[in-house]
Amino acid sequence: MKTDSPPPNGRLSPQDAARLDALYARLVRERSVFIGYPVSAAFDYTPLYRFLEFPSNNVGDPFIPSNYHLNTHEFEREVLAEFFDLTAAPADDAWGYITSGGTEGNLYGIFLGRELLPDGMVYYSEDTHYSVNKILRALHVRNIMIRSREDGRIDLDDLYETLRIHRDVPPILFLNIGTTMKGAIDDLEGVNEILRDLAIGRRYIHADAALHGMILPFVDRPQPWNFEAGIDSISISGHKFIGAPFPCGVVIARKGNVERIARSIEYVGSLDTTLSGSRNSLAALFLWYALRTTPRGEFRRIVAECLDVADYAIDRLEALGRNPWRHEHSPIVVFDRPPGSIMKKWQIAVQGRIGHVIAMPHVTREQVDRLVADLAAVEPEEVRPR
Ligand SMILES: *Cc1c(COP(=O)(O)O)cnc(C)c1O
Repeated sequence: MKTDSPPPNGRLSPQDAARLDALYARLVRERSVFIGYPVSAAFDYTPLYRFLEFPSNNVGDPFIPSNYHLNTHEFEREVLAEFFDLTAAPADDAWGYITSGGTEGNLYGIFLGRELLPDGMVYYSEDTHYSVNKILRALHVRNIMIRSREDGRIDLDDLYETLRIHRDVPPILFLNIGTTMKGAIDDLEGVNEILRDLAIGRRYIHADAALHGMILPFVDRPQPWNFEAGIDSISISGHKFIGAPFPCGVVIARKGNVERIARSIEYVGSLDTTLSGSRNSLAALFLWYALRTTPRGEFRRIVAECLDVADYAIDRLEALGRNPWRHEHSPIVVFDRPPGSIMKKWQIAVQGRIGHVIAMPHVTREQVDRLVADLAAVEPEEVRPR
């Protein structure tokens, strides 16, 4: 630290400074029991802290020079190039931008699909992220919810029947590449087969790969999930598997599609292709730093270790009779809904009869042991309040 830097609490009153210190202490404490959300706490961006001094902003299309020069577009493009490669996007037809998170990427995907197929109908499964309902309302697009199978994947029989009935309406398929609750990956090959079978030519497929989009590139023989499998756009969160001190994400789409709906804006001297106007330039820089300092072999190692920790959690929870399981290639361990006290302490997300812990890069076997000890200690009658 520079010797002339201000004291950590700057010009705050002693009372306000004490509040900041208390907040800091609380966040440190909560991080030690943070095993229920698909968000990594394992990162160190210290070398980038000096970039907090600029009013930087990545407003506009990252591929078009803008009049707002305090940006990190160059780094954003390098991050995107990496994601184009990881998602097997067509080299000459790939476009994207860094979003505020997975939700904006999904909003963008459905928006693009709706603009291309204005009379289209959106199909999505019951297990789809809750934000998609709101997106469909905001975009005012016709939509039908499809049943999910018990394991969280879209029910292909229900999808087939529903598509058959609405055969004359071009479908916009919103597919999950890893559902939030169960980590289920929708069967893209099965969906493509249905589209072929029903001879549906005009269609749009958006993939929601918030968490698993940074896992599947680093496993052997992943399920079909990327552009090679026929998707038209994909949303991946940046703060989830990679980890960042603020929410961020990446959306990737086919360039030809984006160009068909782009509009030019004189005020910033760019194309208004992005949903947000002003955009977080630090997100681009932080993701760039993470990708540069974590070679792909290292990501493979981290992913494998997460899945090992997930298996460890399954063994331990199984021994307690909590019926744990996970999908192949998913660090999300589903088990019987834990009692309220456990849920609260370990920030475990629940839905009906199930809860989950997620073996993110910062989650250790030791934390799993502590959770299991807490679970083993709760009163038996507290265990199954449904
Ligand atoms: C987390 C998540 C989202 C939302 O992403 P944010 O980055 O929180 O906006 C969407 N879909 C799935 C499957 C998710 O897990």
